[in-house]
Amino acid sequence: MARIDLHLHTTHSDGSLPPAAVLELAHKAGVTALAITDHDIVDGIPEALQAGSRLGIEVIPGVEISSRLGASELHILGYCLDWQDPTLNSRMARLRESRHRRNPLIVEKLNALGLDLTYEEVRALAGTESVGRPHIARVLMGKHYVQNAKEAFDRYLAEGKPAYVPRELPEPAEAIAWIREARGIAVLAHPTWVKQNGEEGLVKLCAQLKAGGLGGIEVHYSTHSPKQTTEFLDIAKRLDLLVTGGSDFHGVTKPDIDVGVGRGGLTVPATLLEPLKRAAAA
Ligand code: AMP
Ligand code: FE
Ligand code: FE
Ligand code: ZN
Repeated sequence: MARIDLHLHTTHSDGSLPPAAVLELAHKAGVTALAITDHDIVDGIPEALQAGSRLGIEVIPGVEISSRLGASELHILGYCLDWQDPTLNSRMARLRESRHRRNPLIVEKLNALGLDLTYEEVRALAGTESVGRPHIARVLMGKHYVQNAKEAFDRYLAEGKPAYVPRELPEPAEAIAWIREARGIAVLAHPTWVKQNGEEGLVKLCAQLKAGGLGGIEVHYSTHSPKQTTEFLDIAKRLDLLVTGGSDFHGVTKPDIDVGVGRGGLTVPATLLEPLKRAAAA
């Protein structure tokens, strides 16, 4: 079955490979179409488009915007959007500024815990304006404070851990509206992050978000069990939401996830692409 991958990160946010290298991996994995979905930034798209035309891979403009609803951090993917839209880009610039306000506070907490690092080191490693906790994790890895990103999150960076600092985030409805105003399709990413109780809680939330313009749900995902995939497919059908999927490839901070195939068993069917593009053109 022809496969696509609609969830990929590059060095323009917290991925460890540049867009062209991600597309090379996609090409090797037999991916026929993909979306680069960096956090709060679209700067990787030109290089991806160029590599895509060279390799014969269709590149869908994409982005991933973090939001918060109560106890849940929800990520909203945007597809087929006017990625050069000035309003969208100034909104994302503000999100990136909120990262720069939070990250030094995380570094201060790590310093207080006896770990020696500076935010300048983090920014230099990141080499982008969309700086995230995975960049901090990589600095900690480089200094041998932790062996991998998972350990950095489990010991220090995850919510509830000693160096956690929350970030000002938009509500999901706002993130959805921003994507819609840039004429894109908004999709709920990795729905297992939703902390509403059970399948009915998720259905209720998706119905609410759909009323606010949500267009789809990320059904196929690297870490979903067959049972979860079936459950999310069922919800998409019940609510008439588009079905999408992707690996959420990040490179070194998620070393078990490969482009196109996730942990090995992921196949996002290429047949999902046409409905997405049709909805975007409507
Ligand atoms: P931030 O955008 O700075 O809030 O960092 C959140 C990002 O960190 C997520 O989008 C993931 O890419 C990554 N992340 C979250 N938890 C982990 C983990 N346990 N291991 C590796 N990466 C993680
Ligand atoms: Fe990420
Ligand atoms: Fe995400
Ligand atoms: Zn992601």
